[in-house]
Amino acid sequence: MCIRDRLRPEPQLPKGGDVVLQGRELWFKYDKDLPDVVKGLSLSLRKGEFLALLGGNGTGKTTSLKLLSGLRKPYRGELEISGSVGMLPQNPQALFVKKTVREDLYEILKGRKLSKERQDQRVAHVTALCRLEELLDRHPYDLSGGEQQRVAIARALVNRPKVLLLDEPLGALDLRLRKDMQIELKRIQQQMGITFVYVTHDQEEALTMSDTVVVMDKGRIQQIGTPE
Ligand code: ADP
Repeated sequence: MCIRDRLRPEPQLPKGGDVVLQGRELWFKYDKDLPDVVKGLSLSLRKGEFLALLGGNGTGKTTSLKLLSGLRKPYRGELEISGSVGMLPQNPQALFVKKTVREDLYEILKGRKLSKERQDQRVAHVTALCRLEELLDRHPYDLSGGEQQRVAIARALVNRPKVLLLDEPLGALDLRLRKDMQIELKRIQQQMGITFVYVTHDQEEALTMSDTVVVMDKGRIQQIGTPE
């Protein structure tokens, strides 16, 4: 399989469906004396789209996610977001705060103006979606790597973001588990009708899971295309 080359990638045009997030010519550096890390990033994401962001180490993938999430501000360019954007970081296990998986899920909803009933509905929904029924009373740190990953995904989804940004979510898992989780993630994404931006440096993973593949190099988009 090869990705169709475009010598001068244009901002990606939506192919139908609502646009949920749009970045136009985003430029970013970590300090005014440091070099640009993201150089004119333009991306348009549609509802339910699975976009893989592919590229080698240090090419600006993680920084691009930080810009799209609003965690970092570009010094030039515009970002339009309709709805909330969630993020699944590289080592989500580090975020577990409570003694049980159940408490950990409720903790995320704390401080939001949701009735107890709504909270219960949200937790029940992600529990079913991520198949956590058997794990709710367990301590997050006693779970296997794959189970922890499912909890981390549930934590990211319980807030019902329109867009979820995932930074190499399966990078730490062994090959077999990785394959299983790829199928799980794709199923979850489709069932929720949510937009995924999925950073990986695994070309096969990007090509098998996504609708759109974006290849980054040295802070720029080199190619955009469908996996075909
Ligand atoms: P990737 O995710 O593709 O590996 P990153 O976005 O993490 O790339 O990093 C892109 C560049 O920005 C790298 O050269 C990296 O060293 C630099 N960088 C990342 N984070 C910081 C930071 N907090 N301060 C300064 N430079 C950073």
